Amino acid sequence: MLRTAFIFVFALLIAGLMLCSHASIRSKKPIGRQVSLVCLSLIPPILGNMIIIGTTKRSIALVGCYIYYIGMDFIMYALIKFTNQYCHTKENLNRNKNAIPVWINLFVIADIIQMLMNTLFGHAFYLREIEVYGKLYYSMRPLMGQVFHRLVCYGIIIILIITYIIRTIRVPRLYKERYIIILLSLLFGTVWQTYYVASRAPIDRSMIGFAIIGFMIFYFSVYYRPLSLLDRMLADIISDTDEAVILYGPEGRCIWANDPAKDFANTDHDDLESISDYLTQFFGEISGLPEGKETEISKIKAGAEKNYVIARGKFYDLKGGALGSYVRMRDITQEKLRLEKEMFAANHDALTGLFNKEYTFKKISDRLHEHALKDYYIASIYICDLKVFNDVYGREFGDEALIQVANWVRKYADETCIYGRISGDCFCSCLPKRLFIKDIVEKDLSNFKIRFGEFEKNIAIHVGFCEIESDDRDVSVLFDRAQVALDSIRDDYKRHVAFFDKKVRDQMLWNQEISAQLDDAIRENQIVPYLQPIADKSGKIVGAEALVRWIHPVYGFMAPYKFIPLFEENGMITDLDKHIWRSVCRILSEWEEKYPDFFISVNVSPKDFYMTDVLAEIMSYVIEYDVDPKNLRIEVTETSMMRDTEDKMRVLEEFRKQGFLVEMDDFGSGYSSLNMLKNMPVDVLKIDMNFLGKSDDEQRADIIVKNVIMLSEDLKIVSLAEGVETKEQFEGLSELGCRLFQGYYFSKPIPVAQFEDKLKQL
Ligand code: C2E
Ligand code: CA
Ligand code: CA
Repeated sequence: MLRTAFIFVFALLIAGLMLCSHASIRSKKPIGRQVSLVCLSLIPPILGNMIIIGTTKRSIALVGCYIYYIGMDFIMYALIKFTNQYCHTKENLNRNKNAIPVWINLFVIADIIQMLMNTLFGHAFYLREIEVYGKLYYSMRPLMGQVFHRLVCYGIIIILIITYIIRTIRVPRLYKERYIIILLSLLFGTVWQTYYVASRAPIDRSMIGFAIIGFMIFYFSVYYRPLSLLDRMLADIISDTDEAVILYGPEGRCIWANDPAKDFANTDHDDLESISDYLTQFFGEISGLPEGKETEISKIKAGAEKNYVIARGKFYDLKGGALGSYVRMRDITQEKLRLEKEMFAANHDALTGLFNKEYTFKKISDRLHEHALKDYYIASIYICDLKVFNDVYGREFGDEALIQVANWVRKYADETCIYGRISGDCFCSCLPKRLFIKDIVEKDLSNFKIRFGEFEKNIAIHVGFCEIESDDRDVSVLFDRAQVALDSIRDDYKRHVAFFDKKVRDQMLWNQEISAQLDDAIRENQIVPYLQPIADKSGKIVGAEALVRWIHPVYGFMAPYKFIPLFEENGMITDLDKHIWRSVCRILSEWEEKYPDFFISVNVSPKDFYMTDVLAEIMSYVIEYDVDPKNLRIEVTETSMMRDTEDKMRVLEEFRKQGFLVEMDDFGSGYSSLNMLKNMPVDVLKIDMNFLGKSDDEQRADIIVKNVIMLSEDLKIVSLAEGVETKEQFEGLSELGCRLFQGYYFSKPIPVAQFEDKLKQL
């Protein structure tokens, strides 16, 4: 009965060890595998004993004995493995060394072999039949061979014990219990086992001690965390932060404060009560602050404004009883300053100090979403040719210009305005209408000077305005409209202010529409040359100027002013001109037989020189239609010649070499320079009568025309008067020596067929 009770207890111990082994593996801790192995290794000796107790047969008892002995060796192996991991130090790791050398296991293996040899030699133990609790029992009796087994087991146990003693001595106080517990378990198990061996009692009760070693190792290496150690660590962490932390007992007395708290209160280290008093005196009653939440507080300390965040909270035990409370406090003055600086840098333009684009738009957008900005404008302020100024006068000048324009923008702002720098040369402002009086702004901008040291320079600034409607929410759309208004005065240096209105919007839409249609219009022959006759002194038509007309399927007849300025701006003029040049070449080739001396002049826009090789292009049509170059005249304007004059003169020279006649168009309307004329490779000078006719002082105009005609005669340049509307003009100019005439007096520009009819009547 009692033997059955032992079997039952041993079975329970085995089950417990199996559970511990399983739990160790599942814990996923690095030591888990070793702990599991120790628990498993403790099972065979217990199992061996269980078999011996349970049987009355010699052979089965013998099997139990072998399981027991070999199990003991297995325990040694497992304990060495476990100890090497448990006492694993950085130092050992670096030297690739173990606490207990692995070669010791050779003795373990030797012992297993030696014990198994007992089956052959019977030198280690034998079984003696005795009676225990009234039943046959086979008790193990040691023989000489057992000495080696004991030497190995005790030897290893002593090494293990020494290892744990050394570790216990070496580690910091708080870690000692970690090793002492394992040390004590080993000692306890060993002493019990030794006692059993010495007592020669039949049933090995020390197996219970084995199991206890397993349970202790399992609990202390897998689960247990020393509390005092944790306390110390947490206290150190809290002392290391910049935050002042003060702990209060349940009755409200200060029981602990970290170093920052002591520094803040400027007190002597042990005087905890005064820290708490200082805090209350500095911040007022803290208990009023919300629990567990950080509150920002500004205070004046030593004459300077300081910012703090404070949080307070309470501790409770598991049953909800009050344990105490804490206050945390941090000085965030520097942090706040840094954050403010960063915010400023992220939202502002470094040069002018104004908001940057993203922030300006965001601010305006926020305002638009808060409430409709009735009676407000969005303005786009643009510095014309800033890039050129940068190039010519240097970046410093450009920077100074930006700063002075930014100051000008500020001048037209009150506290309700939002304004900023949108791009390199553009600002944006959202301002109330009342701050903007057109005439004043216009006057301000008509003579805007940038002062740069001793130096002063006029620059042009354009401002485009867009009115904010009550349902406008999208700031970029509003800004685009202000930009469209700006575009409408882009090349106008007399006007500085433009409003986005229906006209501007329609113009924009119109520009887009007809630009998109040009290619098709050319292909479908909607774009045609009209011819305006040119007469000689006798009034006889000797040639014509080709002037473009767009016969639009929807808008009907369109004169050039509707589209030429746009195409000149966007560069599409070249496509149009090529088409006219080609059309004129075709007309000339048709006239070759009938009117071999008749000439037609074509216009060449300043842009054409940049967009294409004008000479090569015109030559290709001349060759294609086999036209005599002397019948095709090339009209260029003074503006064409203003830039890269020498290159252009070379092109014109080349035209003349090829047999074309070159005409200077609109002479007198631009920045005419008589000086320039003498170097110009031109054959005909077209004097702009429209311009001269408008002059108040007619006599003066006459003198100018007279002298221009005389000068051209001297330079062997043929003079042609444009815009001749009356008989008197014709006769007057004739008398002054003018050779050719063009104007409504003879005819308006007319379709080619009509022109041909006119020629037939001659
Ligand atoms: P432009 O080359 O100076 O052409 C002369 C303009 O004066 C023509 O206007 C013509 O109709 C107008 N005109 C002629 N006689 C009189 C007159 O007695 N009184 C008045 N008040 N005006 C007169 P249009 O055809 O409207 O052309 C305007 C401008 O458009 C041209 O000025 C030229 O600069 C440009 N243009 C016309 N066709 C073309 C073309 O095919 N290519 C290029 N690039 N520009 C062209
Ligand atoms: Ca012309
Ligand atoms: Ca002209």
